[in-house]
Amino acid sequence: MARFYTDADADLEQIREEPIAIIGYGNQGRAQALNLRDSGLQVLVGNLQDAYWQQAVEDGFQPMSPAEAARQGRIICLLVPDEVQQQLYERDIAPALQPCDALDFAHGYSIRYGLIRPPAEVDVILVAPRMIGTGVRELFLKGSGAPCAVAVEQDATGRAWQRALAFAKAIGATRTAALETTFAEETELDHFTEQAVMPVVFSLLVESFDLLVARGYQPEMVALELWASGEPSETWGQIASMGLFRQLDLHSRTSQYGTLTRSTSGLREQLRAIAEKGLAEIRSGAFAREWEAERSAGYAVFNKLKRQALCHPLNEVEQTIREALRRARE
Ligand code: NDP
Repeated sequence: MARFYTDADADLEQIREEPIAIIGYGNQGRAQALNLRDSGLQVLVGNLQDAYWQQAVEDGFQPMSPAEAARQGRIICLLVPDEVQQQLYERDIAPALQPCDALDFAHGYSIRYGLIRPPAEVDVILVAPRMIGTGVRELFLKGSGAPCAVAVEQDATGRAWQRALAFAKAIGATRTAALETTFAEETELDHFTEQAVMPVVFSLLVESFDLLVARGYQPEMVALELWASGEPSETWGQIASMGLFRQLDLHSRTSQYGTLTRSTSGLREQLRAIAEKGLAEIRSGAFAREWEAERSAGYAVFNKLKRQALCHPLNEVEQTIREALRRARE
């Protein structure tokens, strides 16, 4: 059975004297830096001089370059986008690493795919919140915390687990639970959600929208029904708190019957084939290689797909609904 850690398993004293360098003051960087500081730890921020730097100044930090923060920090947290970590590591972090430092990640990507190969004399730890940065901060301020995955890839000091758990405690994660994993498992499962589950959800919603509008249903009514009312997100919340099938009781018997009878094994077989393909691309490294090629080519495909998505008629319909709901609230 998976191992869960809570506050009682972690001791902040393990890292109290170790300056923590947060490299990248973005979604995760800002939330984690603020939580770590509120937990009484020494936090340094390393960033380029731009809007994120300014935000760090407004939050009361004295930001410095990533290279300088890495030099001064003993726990160095790489909280920049995954696809730029290798370059940044080689240029600014690797030359600054000292024996017994800890290199911390919020996602296992760079280690899982061998893009970063840290020296044997540093700890390599993972503290990966299962939550966007704003959620990590908001839950912490409410006295709770975002659950996270923790892993140790390399234990050079014999203290890597204590450091990882102390870090998880300081960002609030062990107030709920930190689940023990590996860099490979965390990365592969995270990518599975993004590359096998979400494409099915997105494609089904867009196809359903197009079909229903083509069959004469009002676009606004279709979008409201499919997602814009917020009912589906309410259901996902109940799935998390009650359980996938147990929350069915919150819906009418007609709804339950419809969902259960139409979740056929034939449909599941088709979806399984999609899931198998996604998993194979993740495990073989095919997706990681494709993404690296895309980064090197300047994100041409990524930018084109995003532009196309934002041109779909459903965007305008959503805008109409949002404005109508806003006017109704005023
Ligand atoms: P963001 O996109 O929010 O990171 C932005 C930060 O990275 C900024 O400080 C930015 O600074 C810096 N940055 C971007 N490009 C470069 C570069 N080429 N060189 C130096 N700095 C750069 O990242 P996230 O917080 O989303 O992700 C950080 C890590 O956290 C990733 O490993 C991600 O997988 C993981 N994670 C993210 C979650 C999320 O909520 N988004 C959830 C869980 C894990 P500047 O613009 O000044 O260069």
